[in-house]
Amino acid sequence: KGERLRLPPWLKTEIPIGKNYNRLKNTLRDLNLHTVCEEARCPNIGECWGGGEYATATATIMLMGDTCTRGCRFCSVKTARKPPPLDPDEPYNTAKAIAAWGLDYVVLTSVDRDDIADGGAEHFAKTVSTLKQTKPQILVECLTPDFRGDLAAVEKIALSGLDVYAHNVETVRELQRQVRDPRANFDQSLSVLRHAKKVKPTLLTKTSIMLGLGETDQQIMDTLTELQEAKVDCLTLGQYMQPTKRHLKVEEYITPERFAHWEKVGNEMGFVYTASGPLVRSSYKAGEFFLKNLLK
Ligand code: SF4
Ligand code: SF4
Repeated sequence: KGERLRLPPWLKTEIPIGKNYNRLKNTLRDLNLHTVCEEARCPNIGECWGGGEYATATATIMLMGDTCTRGCRFCSVKTARKPPPLDPDEPYNTAKAIAAWGLDYVVLTSVDRDDIADGGAEHFAKTVSTLKQTKPQILVECLTPDFRGDLAAVEKIALSGLDVYAHNVETVRELQRQVRDPRANFDQSLSVLRHAKKVKPTLLTKTSIMLGLGETDQQIMDTLTELQEAKVDCLTLGQYMQPTKRHLKVEEYITPERFAHWEKVGNEMGFVYTASGPLVRSSYKAGEFFLKNLLK
């Protein structure tokens, strides 16, 4: 205890780069898009942008600025009580830029904006509807905040024309207080996912859990059971990585074999798909998984 764990070999490997990667990389300039992929230096960028078997290029775009009103203990996004106001032209400009970029699947995400009355739901929804009008064939996933449990905000996004509604519970029920901002909690997040499915049953809902924070196998099982009960369709599990020394420590590096075990468990429990692996993130190859599982 107290010592930082060593990085295991499976987290040091080179990751393949798919064939669309260079095309997307070269055409990104001048579009003024803020991709989480580049800004967070995500190790999966070659795979996500490159597309795989289905050549489905996926990228994650951040809306509503780079400053969050919350401070989760695992997250390195900067925090302020009152971030700069929203740019009213962002939904239109971002939608146009994404449509021009040549993506097949886009994940739109944002910081939490507890300083805004609807948490930015209208802003999110406008981006989706403009994007779908401009390029109807693009698949859109929104990875949203919890909107402090405001279900009208959830509904606005669920009905905006998107294909996948994602919201992350982040960790097992028992560790919520240690890991997430105190304004977040497990039941509130479950209610977001449940409501999105209820108002639009054809939507896929999706959530993500980080492992390696000290959770037990039983706690993971219980969490998966509760997600099933909330009719969550898709699940991703990945290794928690400490972004800086000021953030929560990694308690354990979960082996690739254990991740494979959880993928099997998820599939047996009936999730539409489960993606589980040390480097899996909530948006990891999302387009590939979507097509592989739904168009077969
Ligand atoms: Fe981008 Fe997400 Fe893929 Fe990372 S996992 S490259 S953030 S789409
Ligand atoms: Fe990071 Fe999201 Fe937590 Fe904000 S709400 S600190 S962006 S994880």
